[in-house]
Amino acid sequence: MSLFRCEGIILRVRDFGEADRILTILSPDEGKFEAVARGARRTRSRHSGSTQQFSRGQFLVFRGRNIDTLSQVEMLPGFPSLTTVLEKMAYASYVAELIDRMTGERERSESLFSLALATFRALDEGSDPAMVTRAFEIKFMSEMGFQPELERCVGCGAPEAAAPWLGPGAGGLLCAKCRTRDVNAVAFSPAARETAKRLLAWDYRRIPALSPGSGTRAELDRAFRAYVDHRVERRLRSLDFIEEITSIGGRQEGESGSRED
Ligand SMILES: [Zn+2]
Repeated sequence: MSLFRCEGIILRVRDFGEADRILTILSPDEGKFEAVARGARRTRSRHSGSTQQFSRGQFLVFRGRNIDTLSQVEMLPGFPSLTTVLEKMAYASYVAELIDRMTGERERSESLFSLALATFRALDEGSDPAMVTRAFEIKFMSEMGFQPELERCVGCGAPEAAAPWLGPGAGGLLCAKCRTRDVNAVAFSPAARETAKRLLAWDYRRIPALSPGSGTRAELDRAFRAYVDHRVERRLRSLDFIEEITSIGGRQEGESGSRED
């Protein structure tokens, strides 16, 4: 058996056997891979704390014939609020599930790892997880080769001002005439379009400077949802978690006028 060492973030954790966990780890050098953490569910295990979802560390792993086995973890500064603040946890779970769903095993990508790291950090440190997640969606789609065309109609080349629709299957803006080419086309106003361009181009640190109105936020939510869903086969389970959290938040605001968290 050979050993390898890599930095990584744990995207997913599944129980396995009596006391083990299977970790899905994203790393810059190895891409996404799975490793068994033996005995990690035993309370006295040296691995119990370091094998949680969103943990970040230096992993030392035995390369096995069928599956790799975790040997050691040296924890790195992680994203503490992603496991304590429910709303952040919900959005981070979605980010992790989307990355897991759309990437293959052992597809090495330093840029994807950097994006994941920056996204979890922005969710951990920021105060607007929904906007961070919108930025992630468009950055990630571009990283995966599906960057939407936001300058002109993908059907006929009409300028952006004449293309107020976004076609998930068409891959970008559509004008009123070309809209029929994509049954899933959704309305995409100039405000949504300009915000989308900034979400794509800007670093996460600048995202708080964007403060779109609630109409534009809802439009971006709907349009990016359609754009991402076009690329994933089954509905992402984490979306239910986000819906639950945001509806609880809305109810609390409606009933008491303030949020309890
Ligand atoms: Zn057109």
